[in-house]
Amino acid sequence: MVSSLCVLLLLGNLFVIGNAACPTIISRSQWGARPPKGTPTKLPSPPVPYAVIHHGGSNAYCSTQTSCAAIVRSYQNHHIDTNGWNDIGYNFVVGEDGNVYEGRGWDNFGAHEPAYNSRSIGICIIGDFTARLPNQAALNAVRQLIQCGVEKNKIRSNYSLKGHRQGGSTSCPGNRLYQELTTWPRWTSGREK
Ligand SMILES: [Zn+2]
Repeated sequence: MVSSLCVLLLLGNLFVIGNAACPTIISRSQWGARPPKGTPTKLPSPPVPYAVIHHGGSNAYCSTQTSCAAIVRSYQNHHIDTNGWNDIGYNFVVGEDGNVYEGRGWDNFGAHEPAYNSRSIGICIIGDFTARLPNQAALNAVRQLIQCGVEKNKIRSNYSLKGHRQGGSTSCPGNRLYQELTTWPRWTSGREK
C-alpha cells in the first residue's frame, strides 16, 4: 500500500514536471492597462533569486475576470496617479477568479518593495488577507506562476519565497496569507540578504 502510494506520488510529480503548463496570463491589453510612462527598466540579472508576495490590502475582492480586471486597473491608476510611479508596481496580479494578470511582466524591474525590486518577481493577490486566506484558485495560480517562472528561467530554481513584510515596514501580505506562505517549501525566514 505504501509503495504503490509512493509510485503514484512519483508518477504525479513526473506528470507535473513534464507538463507544467504556465497559467493563462491575462495580457495588459485584455485587462485594459494604460501604457507605462516611459520605457520600462529591465531586471538587471535574470533569473531573479526572489519571489515576493503582496496583497492588495483593501476590501476589494473579485471572482470574475471582469471584476478582477477592474480592480487591476484601479491598482494601476493608484500607482501612476497617486504614487507617481511609471506603471502598476507589481510584475503580476492574481485574482480569486484564478487568473493571473500581467503587470510589469517577467522582464521588467518592479516597484513593489525597494529591498527586492531589482531582483525579484513581485506578485500581488487581490484583496485583504489579514484575517482570511485567498481561495484555492488564487493560491494555486500563484504557485503555478512561480513554477512557470522557474521553467522559463526568469526565476532561479533555488529561489527564496518572501512576504513583502520581510523587506519593508508593512503588514503586507496580511497576517493570514503570510502565515500560509511560511508553510510553502521555498519560503525562507528573515529579511533580504
Ligand atoms: Zn506589499
